Amino acid sequence: MNTKPEEIVSILREEIEGYDTRVRRDETGTVLEVGDGIATVYGLDKAVYGELVELDTGVKGMVMNLARDSVGVVLLGSDAGVKEGTVVKRTGRAADVPVGDGLIGRVVDVLGQPIDGLGPIKTTETRPIEHEASGVVSREPVNVPLQTGILAIDAMVPIGRGQRELIIGDRQTGKTAIAVDAILNQKGQDVICIYVAIGQKASTVARIQDTLKKHGAMDYSIIVSATASDSAPLQYIAPYSGAAMGEYFMSKGKDVLIVYDDLSKHAVAYRTLSLLLKRSPGREAYPGDVFYLHSRLLERACRLTKEYGGGSMTALPIIETQAGDVSAYIPTNVISITDGQIYLENDLFFAGQRPAINVGLSVSRVGGSAQTRAIKKTAGTLRIDLARFRELEVFTQFASDLDSATQQTLDHGRRLLELLKQPLYHPMPVSRQAIILYVATNGLVDDVPLDKVRSFVLDFAQEMENEHADVVEEIQSTGNLSGPAIDTIRSVLEDAKKRVSATWQA
Ligand code: ATP
Ligand code: MG
Repeated sequence: MNTKPEEIVSILREEIEGYDTRVRRDETGTVLEVGDGIATVYGLDKAVYGELVELDTGVKGMVMNLARDSVGVVLLGSDAGVKEGTVVKRTGRAADVPVGDGLIGRVVDVLGQPIDGLGPIKTTETRPIEHEASGVVSREPVNVPLQTGILAIDAMVPIGRGQRELIIGDRQTGKTAIAVDAILNQKGQDVICIYVAIGQKASTVARIQDTLKKHGAMDYSIIVSATASDSAPLQYIAPYSGAAMGEYFMSKGKDVLIVYDDLSKHAVAYRTLSLLLKRSPGREAYPGDVFYLHSRLLERACRLTKEYGGGSMTALPIIETQAGDVSAYIPTNVISITDGQIYLENDLFFAGQRPAINVGLSVSRVGGSAQTRAIKKTAGTLRIDLARFRELEVFTQFASDLDSATQQTLDHGRRLLELLKQPLYHPMPVSRQAIILYVATNGLVDDVPLDKVRSFVLDFAQEMENEHADVVEEIQSTGNLSGPAIDTIRSVLEDAKKRVSATWQA
């Protein structure tokens, strides 16, 4: 240890005083140096990794490094007033957060303390921030759908409860929008949503809170916030805090949807922390355990068997790529940890195809078995039709006269893409998705002009909901398209077409 003489003097003095008052060196320590939210502490011989410690200034810290004669403590709050010689006490327990129903509807910091100005939070229980994931025995296969309300996702990359689905894309491609829409769609579905903001601008978090509130989604949501202005340690523990809060509800048999926005910034915070703790840097200067950073987090999402409460936690981690490079270090890590990814593309976004989902590169490895039957049945050919369309589109770019089969495939594909567009904050119920998919994939609207097809189909869906509420209700409640329902859809569509087709020529 390279301590300066004055430090040795102060340590000796502490030691002598400590001896007199029988303050034990293994229970308390003193700060040697502090900076960037990290304190090197002398003493604390018995401290364990991940233990919560308390400084004289009132701020809490977490033990992250165990060296021979000092420990590295990350400060979970302001380092104001912390200086050489500040006394640090062990607490003997792991860092934890308050959990419980009291958190619902609130915006909290990473230690579960309110930051929304709505007064104290009433909870009685706490859970450790770091917790071992549920074992294999307590897990059940994913087979209950978690509807995001986004047609393209529910149709082609379905998500099941307990699944981990990555949302990946460049900056400003609508990643957060998808997560927020998925939260809005949980209204009345008995799903508790947790949005964990990691390294986001405070204004972004405020806007999300506003959106959730406006759509009545705060009634079942929690926002855990570690903004860009918070220290690296706070950003680092944010997702684990959120996971701990989610696990509480899961253990009570509830379904939870948790969004980590985003894990790229989380990895950067951890890299900062590791470098400050003088751990050796590896690839892209990330520490060697950066894979474990995210795997232990995402492994905590699962679906429990009945005996273990039957709850679930579905995770939607978000990763930001640079110039669409999914093969960078952190993106490949998280892709390999999750059960699939929704890949958003800049080009699509700017071409007006929003949500900008690249159908070819987006997959869901386990959600298929959880997909609602009506959607599964109607969306069956969607992927392949779009793939054929994309292929032909490239080949026929400069061709002038096309044979009718090719033209038909192109017409069909263009209309499918048009119908997969969806504005922000307009999640769709299953019944509407099934109706739109049915008419789209069966080519029933291929004769509607391209620029009219979206409004025509939306009007038609609205008409179904207004005039044939019983049929729509049946689709919604059974999650299936029965023969009579299909007959109604077809005849109402024919009538609608007859009614408005005259205006198409004009
Ligand atoms: P960042 O990288 O900054 O976090 P992001 O990928 O999370 O960005 P968003 O903030 O969700 O992207 O969206 C970027 C912009 O695109 C926003 O202004 C949003 O309003 C718009 N947007 C996103 N999805 C849609 C959509 N489906 N329809 C129309 N506009 C959209
Ligand atoms: Mg975002």
